[in-house]
Amino acid sequence: MQSLLEGVLKAVRTGIIVLDAEERIVLWNEWVEQHSRLPSQLVLGKTFSEALPDMVRGRTHVAIEAALRNNLASLLSQTLNKAPFPLFANPADAASGARMQQAVHVMPLQVPPGRHCLVQITDVSTAVARERKLREMAVELESQTLVDGLTGIANRRRFDLHLEDEFRRAKRNVAPISLLMIDVDSFKDYNDNYGHQRGDDCLVQIAGALTRVLNRARDLVARYGGEEFTVVLPDTDKDGALQVAEAMRAEVEALAVEHAFSGVSRHVTISLGVSTLVPELSTTTGSLIHAADRALYQAKRAGRNRVAVYLDSKLS
Ligand code: GH3
Ligand code: MG
Ligand code: MG
Repeated sequence: MQSLLEGVLKAVRTGIIVLDAEERIVLWNEWVEQHSRLPSQLVLGKTFSEALPDMVRGRTHVAIEAALRNNLASLLSQTLNKAPFPLFANPADAASGARMQQAVHVMPLQVPPGRHCLVQITDVSTAVARERKLREMAVELESQTLVDGLTGIANRRRFDLHLEDEFRRAKRNVAPISLLMIDVDSFKDYNDNYGHQRGDDCLVQIAGALTRVLNRARDLVARYGGEEFTVVLPDTDKDGALQVAEAMRAEVEALAVEHAFSGVSRHVTISLGVSTLVPELSTTTGSLIHAADRALYQAKRAGRNRVAVYLDSKLS
């Protein structure tokens, strides 16, 4: 049994240190030897402070005292101290002084003749690195997708690409193109009173309502950001765009999502700005967006839950 235990202690890929009631090191396993480059003969019988003077009164030392005196176990937070022990993954790291990232558990251990303290150390460098890599990949993937994560409709990136395409086509064909900018009315009050989760649910319903109104293949509704949506309507003149906008306004109102704090209606409503132009060679998508934005602002100023169109001789 003794040799079996010794074999296990030698083989485990975890650091195991045991201290007695006087904080003398009585066990220092092979893994700790290897990564600290301190052979057990050098440390066994020494106190924690003698063996690891740099760690005196540090968080690990305090945890060891709590285990020995008060029978308390601790898991040392990795965010506060990532590498308390002078342990290195490999000789190159040891030479450069780059410590391995550690998870450290300290717990009291009852072995006759008295209380001891068991310190377990795990190398979490790879887990931490893998987590960071995964996070980076998630951000990268998100930036490449074309779909809005919440509502499932087109996202801002898809909108930008689609608008550029359709704008170019409108220039070529000397055809009109229209844009709607849409903003949910009093949505801050909705969130503040019903909660962010209900707010998100509401945005999903609005996205569905806006989508239902469209039926041409090259029409596109997208989430522009937050509680704002936008619609690209190729080959659509001002009157056509106004019709679509009004249908969208009515469709959202017909959802009859309760909003007792709106000041506009008893239900959730949207305001819409419409802009239309037949782009000339030098015109950019920016002017179409800017015009729809101005119209949206006018719809808000005029009382919300309505459609406004940007009227400018240069555009219409
Ligand atoms: P207005 O009628 O002038 O548009 O008023 P408003 O309260 O809608 O306008 P404001 O821009 O002040 O507030 C927008 C709010 O929309 C802020 C935030 O509470 C909410 N919001 C923005 N994005 C999201 C989102 O993704 N989810 C949820 N639940 N709420 C959002
Ligand atoms: Mg807004
Ligand atoms: Mg709003």
